Amino acid sequence: MPQIIDGKAIAAEVREGVAKDVAALIASHGLKPGLAVVLVGEDPASKVYVKNKGEQTVAAGMNSWEHKLPATATEAEILAIVQKLNNDPAVHGILVQLPLPKHVNAERVLNTIDPNKDVDGFHPVNVGRLWIGERTLVPCTPTGSVILAKKAAPSLAGMNAVVVGRSNIVGKPVAALLLKENCTVTIAHSRTRNLHDVVKGADLLIAAVGIPEMVRGDWVKPGAIVIDVGINRVPSANGKTKLVGDCNYDECAKVAGAITPVPGGVGPMTIACLLQNTVEAAKMQKGIK
Ligand code: NAD
Repeated sequence: MPQIIDGKAIAAEVREGVAKDVAALIASHGLKPGLAVVLVGEDPASKVYVKNKGEQTVAAGMNSWEHKLPATATEAEILAIVQKLNNDPAVHGILVQLPLPKHVNAERVLNTIDPNKDVDGFHPVNVGRLWIGERTLVPCTPTGSVILAKKAAPSLAGMNAVVVGRSNIVGKPVAALLLKENCTVTIAHSRTRNLHDVVKGADLLIAAVGIPEMVRGDWVKPGAIVIDVGINRVPSANGKTKLVGDCNYDECAKVAGAITPVPGGVGPMTIACLLQNTVEAAKMQKGIK
């Protein structure tokens, strides 16, 4: 049996750590970190995420604000809110919930966020800081993925890490983090030849593709750590839908040394790491180590 890496429990530990850090910051510096979330439109999944983010931010002892705009909001209106939040000293973290409506240039909106308040870590300045190894705000899902991998092996140094997927949100930043952990990193993607063989060389596999159960058991090296970032909704036997990852869990679990389930693996880590980033943003803005 592999080690099943319990993302739900580990996310709860991260949130407890954040709540302690917040209490300490308030006591030592009178600094209460605050996160502002901008939600445009009525996307049901986005509404749930934003509600969860707000509740968990408050539960960790921080300030939380939600700015809701209708789907018809103009880009100028969204940019004006972002600018206002950039200039508000009580706001340490700003998150614009994606996706934005099609008539809005999402890149322009994200790049308007003050890099020091960019708790998603998507701003080009933060991407650059991450790759050159400076202190920065790192995208949340990649951070969560590496925390989970380190629960299976506290040192990842020297491992062959294969990241499948090269998105700016997951694949590329997780590769940067694994390089920092002294892994030998391969980034595989839709044009990779013989993906099966590339994955077979992985001591640590991060699957971030968005194709349900693409990675099969016979792709996985015996004993490997498998971190499945994929969240895919597929039809289930009872006529409803269920969530599956990018790895075929039952097959991969027979071969892996450690594996994350879906749901209950990487998913819960994302908001926990967002809370951590909000504290980090507040500290960076005040010059606190
Ligand atoms: P994306 O669509 O932006 O990128 C997918 C990547 O997979 C691309 O870089 C592409 O090159 C690669 N790819 C596509 N087809 C491939 C193939 N056949 N073989 C190899 N590589 C292929 O997706 P994303 O935003 O990076 O998300 C990936 C998955 O992670 C999705 O299932 C998404 O739902 C999930 N996700 C989960 C969280 C979370 O847990 N909180 C957060 C973000 C994304």
